[in-house]
Amino acid sequence: MPVPLLDLSAQYRPIRGQIAKAIDAVLDDQRFILGPPVERFEREVAASCNVAHAVGVASGSDALLLALMALNVSPGDEVITTPYTFFATGGAIARLSAKAVFVDIDPATYNIAPDQIEGKITPRTKVIMPVHLFGQCADMDPILEIADRHKIPVIEDAAQAIGATYKGRQAGSMGIFGCFSFFPSKNLGAAGDGGMVTTQDTALAEKVRILRVHGSKPKYYHSLLGINSRLDAIQAAILSVKLPYLSEWSEKRAENARFYNQQFSGMKNGVRPLRVVTPYIAPHNQSIYNQYVLRVKDRDALLEHLKKNGIGCEIYYPVPLHLQPCFSEWKGKEGDFPQSEKAALETIALTDSSPAASSIPSESTPRILAGAKL
Ligand SMILES: *Cc1c(COP(=O)(O)O)cnc(C)c1O
Repeated sequence: MPVPLLDLSAQYRPIRGQIAKAIDAVLDDQRFILGPPVERFEREVAASCNVAHAVGVASGSDALLLALMALNVSPGDEVITTPYTFFATGGAIARLSAKAVFVDIDPATYNIAPDQIEGKITPRTKVIMPVHLFGQCADMDPILEIADRHKIPVIEDAAQAIGATYKGRQAGSMGIFGCFSFFPSKNLGAAGDGGMVTTQDTALAEKVRILRVHGSKPKYYHSLLGINSRLDAIQAAILSVKLPYLSEWSEKRAENARFYNQQFSGMKNGVRPLRVVTPYIAPHNQSIYNQYVLRVKDRDALLEHLKKNGIGCEIYYPVPLHLQPCFSEWKGKEGDFPQSEKAALETIALTDSSPAASSIPSESTPRILAGAKL
């Protein structure tokens, strides 16, 4: 039986009635852009992330872009971030003609290495942007301490980490801004694109609200140069139905991860133990396991073996940002960030972090994995 990487229909089935009702209500109302369902969902996200303000936008990518815009990031400014992340982290910086200054990752968590940040700070450093990769928060205390000392704001790319906590604090509540994505495969997924910017700062929240509607307030009076980036009412209505289930779904993913960790540790393949490294979650972190990521030396052989046997898997991410051709102006080259480059070669995201109704992931996956010739 094939095991998909992510089976969203299992999550959808039990709540389809509720979702249909929510969509119908928006269709009856015929107001599709922003409006009451978005305002309601913004309040719900603000409460669940423990922040004062949440602003619904069109995507996680736009959330990053708008947060940078709200801090006046301009051509030539530098933004410190990690090269081992989804494209959008770097894309948002490049869109503003700013420069991403990369810092390598901690090989255990795959998140930005805090002890390498300070050496990269220059007078042009405008923002520090850690990413909470795979559902686990970056090590925020040392990052916030450095940022505070240099008076540089921190934007959290929390696109993969809604509901994750660091020392009991919610992802997206620790920096000046938190940026979330509701892309369907995120832990809280819409039926399309969607995103959210969170902040404790009332003036900055208002600025993002203005920037998302072309910089106009009142309507047709433009004090700022904004963009068109709003959350749809239908998406917000769907997300409001799903939000109450989020912690339960994420706990199920964590349960699946524990099952796999147990199955994969000490796994024997003939005479040799299979050297797979299971995810390391720092003790102060609660991960939402947006991805369950193994590290293995002969990754491509494992990838081929799993694919052949119908086990869904994916590489997140095969090329670190400093080696992406479209970012060549930042002059990154092979060898610049050895841990990121190594992770790009050695990691494989595995089913089943799926939020399926069953808390037990595929039993066949450990057996098939054990058959890999590594
Ligand atoms: C998904 C993601 C984004 C972008 O979100 P979209 O909603 O797809 O635009 C940004 N950063 C990271 C780390 C992501 O995983």
